[in-house]
Amino acid sequence: MKKKTVVILTILYMFFLGACSASGDSQVPATTDNPLSKTGEALNTSISISLYDSKDESILNGCFELIKKYEKMFSRTDPDSEIYALNEKGRADLSPETYELLMLGLKYSDQTGGRFNIVIEPLTSLWNFSSDSPKVPSETDIKEAIKHLDYTNIAMNEEGQKTRVALGDKDSGVDLGAIAKGYIADKVKEYLLEKGVKSALINLGGNVLLVGGKPDGSDFTVGLQNPFGDRNDYKEIVKAKDVSIVTSGTYERNFTENGKTYHHILNPATGYPYDNGLVAVSIISPTSVEGDALSTSCFVLGLEEGMKLIDSLPDVHAVFVTEDGKYHYSKDYPYNK
Ligand code: ADP
Ligand code: MG
Repeated sequence: MKKKTVVILTILYMFFLGACSASGDSQVPATTDNPLSKTGEALNTSISISLYDSKDESILNGCFELIKKYEKMFSRTDPDSEIYALNEKGRADLSPETYELLMLGLKYSDQTGGRFNIVIEPLTSLWNFSSDSPKVPSETDIKEAIKHLDYTNIAMNEEGQKTRVALGDKDSGVDLGAIAKGYIADKVKEYLLEKGVKSALINLGGNVLLVGGKPDGSDFTVGLQNPFGDRNDYKEIVKAKDVSIVTSGTYERNFTENGKTYHHILNPATGYPYDNGLVAVSIISPTSVEGDALSTSCFVLGLEEGMKLIDSLPDVHAVFVTEDGKYHYSKDYPYNK
């Protein structure tokens, strides 16, 4: 099985500038050619954060603590998480953040007519793409699971700070996997800005969020992996500052059984992975939660409808890659100039 440790988007070029001089205060002088980085495993993937204008390790550690905190709230599999409690008991009190993310998931479920489906859980745990040896589930189990994917069956009840959420169908379950990494990346960026960091790269398993540009004011350069190549093969380069770059693709998490490859974006109507000619959708947007939601949403909508959606949104661009190897760009795509 090809695990999600593959980083889809990788920072191609780092800085080739010399070290800056100290700015007069007692801070360690910031260097521009050598970011302060930390990498680790979280959110079921590899993550890395690089600071280009700070040498304060406590800030990096703070980012990782924040990621762990949100993972503990949103995880589908951690028995201590809010989402686990909701799925197990059919009801739970959600924190404002988990509630906000669930609401966003419901918005995209509506917007895609349920093809993006925030209660996909009974199906995702059945396929279990993150297991060591995933298998195609039985047809009977798939048919049973898809009976429990009605996202309109969620009831909310606000009480002060907490929001009580109940699943109308106890066999359905919330899976925030399609939007959580984007949301968390935005929170990490907020934290970095609060700490005074103005030049950084946040990479949560291919969900890349840029904080500013390079310290000299120029753009960061991010490579989009060739879906037909290996992880160091970049077909497309994005030059930008302060944007999110997120990809959903068939090559991210998949396995092959009897010569057929199955990927992890599932069609709630059939119970099987989407098979619509797309292999990857990359979204470039101001916030990462929007990029994450849109990359999965466009994947499920397909090329034509997905592109229409992107072209209707201000400041959002996309690159779609189809099975025939063709690249399709949103209207007035500006990042490859
Ligand atoms: P990744 O998380 O691998 O970067 P995506 O953002 O596209 O990729 O999200 C895929 C994840 O979304 C799956 O692993 C699963 O948790 C969830 N998911 C799968 N199918 C759907 C769907 N139709 N609607 C909403 N979420 C889905
Ligand atoms: Mg997504």
